[in-house]
Amino acid sequence: MGAPAAVAGDQITGVCAIHQVPGPTGTPVPSPAPLPFAAPLVTGLAASVLVGGQPVVVASSAGTNTPPHVGLHVSDPFALPTAQQGQVLAGSVTVLAEGRGVAYSGCMVVQCAQVPATIVGSGTSVLVGP
Ligand SMILES: [Zn+2]
Repeated sequence: MGAPAAVAGDQITGVCAIHQVPGPTGTPVPSPAPLPFAAPLVTGLAASVLVGGQPVVVASSAGTNTPPHVGLHVSDPFALPTAQQGQVLAGSVTVLAEGRGVAYSGCMVVQCAQVPATIVGSGTSVLVGP
């Protein structure tokens, strides 16, 4: 058994519960509600290995939260949209592309430095095991 491989444009999704927003007096306070996170994976892919015509996603592949969180306090380490990264922490240990583990639905990913987050692979023609 395995799970679909992740390919270019597949997303890391989740909700972020760690962010700080400006409080009534301007000091940082925890965001009153978790913020949605969705990062299409577009960098650090294994460009020489295609699944369904798309470069496959591997360990360390990354993407930026789109659209970015807005309204964060300037002291929040993820206040800059470019800091709002999703990244594959670990792919398969047995299925490699360009020497790195292939990412698949349910593998370990991170959003704004938090786990858990979710990845759903759309490369359904290639099933990858942990
Ligand atoms: Zn976040």
